[in-house]
Amino acid sequence: MINKFISNRDMDVLWHPCTQMKDHETFPIIPIAKGHGIYLEDFEGNRYIDGISSWWVNLFGHANTYINGKVKEQLDTLEHVILAGFTHEGIVTLSERLVALAPEGLTRCFYADNGSSAVEVALKMSYHAHRNRGDNRALFVSLSNSYHGETLGALSVGDVALYKETYEPLLIRSIQTPCPIDQSLESAIEAVEEFKKLLGERSSEIAGLIVEPLVQGAGGMVMYHPHFLSEAKRLCSEYGIHFIADEIMVGFGRTGTMFACEQASITPDFLILSKGLTGGYLPLSVVMTTETIYGAFYCDYNPHRSFLHSHSYTGNALACAAANATLDLFENNKVIEANRELSKVISEGLKRFAARKEVKEIRQCGMIGVIELQSYNASERIGVKIHRHCLALGVLIRPLGSVVYVMPPYVITPEELEHIFDAIESALNELTL
Ligand SMILES: *Cc1c(COP(=O)(O)O)cnc(C)c1O
Repeated sequence: MINKFISNRDMDVLWHPCTQMKDHETFPIIPIAKGHGIYLEDFEGNRYIDGISSWWVNLFGHANTYINGKVKEQLDTLEHVILAGFTHEGIVTLSERLVALAPEGLTRCFYADNGSSAVEVALKMSYHAHRNRGDNRALFVSLSNSYHGETLGALSVGDVALYKETYEPLLIRSIQTPCPIDQSLESAIEAVEEFKKLLGERSSEIAGLIVEPLVQGAGGMVMYHPHFLSEAKRLCSEYGIHFIADEIMVGFGRTGTMFACEQASITPDFLILSKGLTGGYLPLSVVMTTETIYGAFYCDYNPHRSFLHSHSYTGNALACAAANATLDLFENNKVIEANRELSKVISEGLKRFAARKEVKEIRQCGMIGVIELQSYNASERIGVKIHRHCLALGVLIRPLGSVVYVMPPYVITPEELEHIFDAIESALNELTL
């Protein structure tokens, strides 16, 4: 009954993210008492496999002993310090490590405290870098169906109507070029042609192109061929347009390489990281950029040329400790290699859904597996029903409409992955037809 007690108190004072609160009149919110590895446990001892890494952030499980230790150590030393005029060892070490890991040429780290804020930073920096060179370019291009966060600037460059439409009058201008429709080379080539056409017409107005490399997350786990990235980057360089890689979801091994851009062998002008950066522990984000961009702001004091952007918690020391611990785990455990084996288990698991008639497509990119159902009537809320069915079986997944996906922490076992697929299969057996 503790579950109920807490969820009732919750309903009196909270307003939850991305939620119609009235839904919880009939389906109570679940209070979590503790986390351990891939499991979340409520106050009555029910356990749920975290099949979506708690909104795509968790990499090495909840209450990970190693990360816990490093955060506790930091806590006794320095919890936070202003990052203007001061620095701390954790953030210097973290920046050195990120520079060494990221595509060659990304040598500067600017921190914020969540993904959307980092997108704002990249957009402002891109615009401002052009401006500092006397070039007034205020237009951003993004891909159709893209998602870059919920703050107004980030929402402006996104293209998911569900989140964006209502706020349209508040947004800055952006235009979209088609995202490749699937993972084939042909679709990538077609999308490149469309981008070329757009550049032919409007390149001189455009400050930057922002993309989610290889996988569009919130837009429905749409996946595409790396050829699009390498060609789009080449075109951007040709036209003096910044290439902004939003790797907030795909960074840190999610697509099978440390960063998705590696698969296209490109160095973006801006690389945005958050989510997995701290292993899913604490809010932190970073915009990595080149000496060229950095140089556009570097001069004797001139308020108009300096990047006067800050957040109170920029570069928080506890978050940096979690991030450094996360990178230790990558180094010490050959995670990218180990994930190749887990990816094979995901692809085997997906196969059992391929022939079902309610399934439109299965697809996969590294540690993300997708079962997309045939189009359905939105008012049926099939995704919500699948979510609830799986919860009752001890599995947390959160379909995006009719797109059912798994994105587990990297410490999951093949047996636990099977359990997730069993739950999804049971949901489809019960709920579709
Ligand atoms: C989650 C996400 C964001 C926004 O990050 P928040 O920390 O939720 O603000 C931006 N871009 C992509 C690709 C994301 O997946």
